[in-house]
Amino acid sequence: MHFDTLALHSGEPPHKAGQPVSPSIVTATSFFATPDTGFSATDLAAAPDPFYTRWGNPTVTILEQRLASLEGGAGSVAFASGMAAAAALFLTRLRSGDHLILSDICYAGIAEFAAGTLPKFGIAVSAVDTSQSGAVQAAIRPGITKLIHIETPANPVLKLSDIEALAVIAHEGGAELSVDSTIATPVATRPLMHGADYVLHSLTKYICGHGDALGGALVARHADRLVDLRKEALIHHGGVISPFSAWLLLRGLETLSLRMRVHEENAREVAHFLNKHPAVGVVHWPGLSSHPQAALANKQMRNFSGLLSFTTKHESRKLARRLAERLSIFSYAVSIGKTKSLLYYIPTEDILRTSFRLNAAGTQAYRNLASDGVFRVSVGLENSGDLIQDLAQALG
Ligand code: PLP
Repeated sequence: MHFDTLALHSGEPPHKAGQPVSPSIVTATSFFATPDTGFSATDLAAAPDPFYTRWGNPTVTILEQRLASLEGGAGSVAFASGMAAAAALFLTRLRSGDHLILSDICYAGIAEFAAGTLPKFGIAVSAVDTSQSGAVQAAIRPGITKLIHIETPANPVLKLSDIEALAVIAHEGGAELSVDSTIATPVATRPLMHGADYVLHSLTKYICGHGDALGGALVARHADRLVDLRKEALIHHGGVISPFSAWLLLRGLETLSLRMRVHEENAREVAHFLNKHPAVGVVHWPGLSSHPQAALANKQMRNFSGLLSFTTKHESRKLARRLAERLSIFSYAVSIGKTKSLLYYIPTEDILRTSFRLNAAGTQAYRNLASDGVFRVSVGLENSGDLIQDLAQALG
């Protein structure tokens, strides 16, 4: 079945007279059981009946099945947020003595969790420029590197990593590959089809689309990995998504394809406008022919998404204040992937100090891309002419 059809139908119970046509929110936290059901996650059956909502919930199950079918995975586990999904992946797949290779530029929360928390559990972490497959190959510690986690495109400078090449490197080195595909969404890229073992999503972003529900998910290529993710991470760490959020996310998925088409069209218009503006330095967007990895973007992305960033030729903090004051259609706010356009300033000194652990060469490479700060723009679904006019009057 085509992606657009699956986005509307997969995971739902068979059509039957009297059943609701749209998914219902099941708010119950516990479900009728039998004396043989068991009481521990250890006894969890492969396809259990609903039992307790921290184990699983009928509304959440529809979401998990739909995400798995859209990504082409064996199944998925939904979590309360993208961060809960990332923590679940790292803490389930890695143990003391293991080594993780992580994209040196990735969502700040994941970079901070990897650098700050995982070493406390004896897990070594290397931040590597995963846009250079050779650098990943060189960083592999045979028998010790168990996971390579990449983010492509990477927040906030839209650097890409070659999923196919890295899947080969990971597997030859005895490791698994996980891909944070939050910015791409399955409309653009299906990492499992390129050889990855896991796809991670912050569902909070494009999949929700409306900026009103948090969620995260891991989709796995192999069904047996899901058992650990559910038993160890979901049930015992407890980062469970609420059925109400799952219902909002299912609603978001119904229009994902349509929205991504407009996000991309509008991002292209905005990127071309910014490219010509005298105050703007560099525009980062994978759909631009000037993107240094345009060939890879064309190979692994069917949609270039609506997230771009740009630098300025002037003092960036001053411009940030000006934009925050003057923009009237764009909201000066964090997050990405919402129907409405968002813009946020990320100063280079701050993110280098708080989030990214880069060596001298990595720091210089980031400065080359981000200058003294980037303006991250999540281009929404408004009329592109209005968006450009808003930016034009604010940039001056
Ligand atoms: N991954 C990416 C690429 C993100 O941008 C974010 C959040 O901004 C996350 C993961 C974390 O997701 P959440 O905010 O849903 O915990």
